[in-house]
Amino acid sequence: MPKLYIETVGCQMNMLDSELVVASLRKDGYELAANAADADTILFNTCSVRQHAEDKIYSALGRLKNAKREHPDKVIGVLGCMAQKDQDLIFRRAPYVDLVVGPGQLHQVPALVREARTERRQWMEVSLGRTDGSRDEIERSHESFDPLRDPAMRPTPYQAFVRIMIGCDKFCTYCIVPSVRGPEQSRPPAAILAEARQLADEDCLEITLLGQTVNSYRYREGERTWRLSDLIAALHEIEGIARIKFVTNYPKDMTDDLLAAVRDLPKCSKYLHVPVQSGSNAVLKRMKRGYTVEEYREMLARAYDSIPGVAVTSDFIVGFCGETDEEFGETIDLVRDSRLKNSFIFKYSERPGTKGAELYADDVPEDVKRHRNNSLLSLQNKICEEDNEAFFGREVTVLVEGPSKTAEKHGDVGDRLQLTGRTNCDRIVVFEGSRRQIGRFLPVVVYDANAHTLFGEVVTEHVGPEVFSLALPLAAAESQKE
Ligand code: SF4
Repeated sequence: MPKLYIETVGCQMNMLDSELVVASLRKDGYELAANAADADTILFNTCSVRQHAEDKIYSALGRLKNAKREHPDKVIGVLGCMAQKDQDLIFRRAPYVDLVVGPGQLHQVPALVREARTERRQWMEVSLGRTDGSRDEIERSHESFDPLRDPAMRPTPYQAFVRIMIGCDKFCTYCIVPSVRGPEQSRPPAAILAEARQLADEDCLEITLLGQTVNSYRYREGERTWRLSDLIAALHEIEGIARIKFVTNYPKDMTDDLLAAVRDLPKCSKYLHVPVQSGSNAVLKRMKRGYTVEEYREMLARAYDSIPGVAVTSDFIVGFCGETDEEFGETIDLVRDSRLKNSFIFKYSERPGTKGAELYADDVPEDVKRHRNNSLLSLQNKICEEDNEAFFGREVTVLVEGPSKTAEKHGDVGDRLQLTGRTNCDRIVVFEGSRRQIGRFLPVVVYDANAHTLFGEVVTEHVGPEVFSLALPLAAAESQKE
């Protein structure tokens, strides 16, 4: 059997793409290899959001130079956002790469791998750039790729990502996604529902709907326009699907109908990831985010008011072009006031090809970026710790995902081990349990917490006194023996 090694960098969208690429290559007889050395085909599914992610791929490619010289029949491919962004630059920097395939062309991977192996020449398949044709032509050149699922490639067999949109039309000045993932396009509801039913048949319990701005989902079908709330309501009806999440949200599209759906539909996780990026209106304007801090605060208040117990997380970019101490101070104020469940904090990294790189100098020194990153992180951690303490003594329902990181590190093999799972509001819970509990919903009582984890104990079913009342009086027991 030919062997495939795939390395994935980046977001959940990339993880899903890799799952689908693997599923399509398995149909061609491939099986997964544990490392690149054992593989006939080596694929990198790449990310372009930060320079660091690209550097990592180029150095991984550099390490394969000798392997390719010694085994010229190995096929090496670069897929995803960096392939779309750098195109033939990849061949110039690593001439032994066989395939460069953009995210809109992944359906071609099996055929391209076959061609590369038989024809021994390089292949590049990428989509049109944002100014290379009419909107229709550009949309068609970014084909969505969702035909096959492969449970073996999922985070766990009980959880799956489902793509409901591709692309983005927001054009935030720091972001490369609209160029590499193309125009915003919503997937037909019937295709999404069919995929969710298939996942339910494969015993998947939790689905996470994916889109760059997932709550901008709109699909026109005759007279009807499907919104995300309509789609969630339809998915809610599927037997077997027990939990529904969706990421990533755009603050301005957080409409009341969607908040009501999250509140009213029991399978809907009470969790919203809504990146704000900065607490300063001046910075948001330079980022071209399309909303003000006041509008974000209003959206947050609406979410907290309408959904009891909802957890909200956000992303922040620190050290964006021209960010002053005062502007960063406004971000600190926003974080202090917002009581977010968590914040994902990134130092600004200039991306060639974006408006930000063209218009503004990346002028905040690295040490200032690092300092701001650390300050925001320590404030957020303090808030996380305080808010997690409120869970002490509370019973939460957890979907058990598998062994905890500690159990994995120790290589625990027995039946009893430390497990990890998530609550309905996406908090991580660690507890002692049995392997048989993986993939089940369990009640857990929380007895401790740190900033990012709750620690608990599984609530065991009460075994009542009736068990003891079964003990028969000695005489009766003796007569039964006869
Ligand atoms: S909304 Fe902005 S940050 Fe998000 S993918 Fe679109 S352009 Fe990038």
